[in-house]
Amino acid sequence: MNWKINEVRKDFPILDQQVNGERLAYLDNAATMQQSRPVTDAVLHYYQTTHSNVHRGVYTLSNQATDMYEQAREKVAHFINTESSEQIVFTRSTTESLNLVAQGFGDAVVNPGDEIVISVAEHHSNLIPWQQLASRRSAHLKYIELNEDGSFDMDSATRVITKKTKIVAVAHVGNVIGIQNPINKLEQLAHKVNAYLVVDGAQAVSHMAVDVQELNADFYAFSGHKLGAPTGIGVLFGKSNLLAKMNPVQFGGEMISKVTRDVATWKKTPLKFEAGTPNISGAIGLGVAIDYVQKMGLKSIQDYEEKLMQRMLTGIEGISGVTIYGPHNTKKRLGVLSFNIDGVHPHDVATGLDLLGIEVRAGHHCAQPLMQDLGVAATARASIAFYNNMADVDQLIDGVKQVKEFFLHES
Ligand code: PMP
Repeated sequence: MNWKINEVRKDFPILDQQVNGERLAYLDNAATMQQSRPVTDAVLHYYQTTHSNVHRGVYTLSNQATDMYEQAREKVAHFINTESSEQIVFTRSTTESLNLVAQGFGDAVVNPGDEIVISVAEHHSNLIPWQQLASRRSAHLKYIELNEDGSFDMDSATRVITKKTKIVAVAHVGNVIGIQNPINKLEQLAHKVNAYLVVDGAQAVSHMAVDVQELNADFYAFSGHKLGAPTGIGVLFGKSNLLAKMNPVQFGGEMISKVTRDVATWKKTPLKFEAGTPNISGAIGLGVAIDYVQKMGLKSIQDYEEKLMQRMLTGIEGISGVTIYGPHNTKKRLGVLSFNIDGVHPHDVATGLDLLGIEVRAGHHCAQPLMQDLGVAATARASIAFYNNMADVDQLIDGVKQVKEFFLHES
């Protein structure tokens, strides 16, 4: 490990504060990660020195801004190991990336009677675009079921992925249970029947190295803010031949080649998908966030986070009357721990923890079908990032005990 956690934390000044009179333990990283000083500095510097519109200026500032925006695209390409930066489309978020694939590509390749396969554990943003596509194209949406521990039931995957399947869309890492899904096996099943594989990488990119060529994913989506970049910048990777086939779903400036009164033609990918003024500062911030995690090393981050998760899991498991969702094996679990204190509503758990300075999420986590499967309406969810430390984890464990005692009047 070439970094020290105390030094890393100094780059995240937001962590060094009190909330409700208590030390802050920010454990809602699966919802959004904090931004490092280099990221916010780069964004500020851009606005103070270079801000101008990209791709259309013939003057110095615009050329500089364009270079910075395009350099960020190169960094993203390198980060997930694409063949070319032209395979990287900047979007607003994972949600926008997945909607773009469903509409721009799905509408072109899915025909009546075809099937689209997702899993029960998907975030709504990797579910509703496919539901809508199925309904627009009179296709069927099929689900991969889950095993007891929340992992994909691969027998079910083998059954539902058939010759009728056109698209298989799954999360790389789940946002409720945190399991790294078996993308390689799904890739084989999907490509064997000539279906396209779409991977939602929102919960993967900050916790593990991602190599889209190794995954052989046809599309891969993620959000910058899940990686320490500003909100409002997202990424869609697509294989070149598929991006060429995909239609734009937003039209306007920047994306056109020629416009007449009656018709218009598009620029080549990726610009044909980036209508209007893009999120220039967001892309620049994303480039710096990528530099930051690459300097730390994703392998090193993963090893460190595994230790945090081990302690968190052991500590929460050790509290009687607490149910943990998902595997009790930290090798299988990245980033998130969902749990409930039996007899206490998860919103009360999160509110109680907040009073102790601990920020966790409570709710259905945009995964209502999974909640239905788990037989609960909601869970509390603690999620870590590389800047969390053991003190954050211990504060959570102690906090859960205190909240339990408070609500159940136990001691
Ligand atoms: N997929 C997964 C697995 C997620 O965790 C999230 C964010 N919670 C999303 C998609 C959507 O990300 P965004 O809101 O940034 O579009």
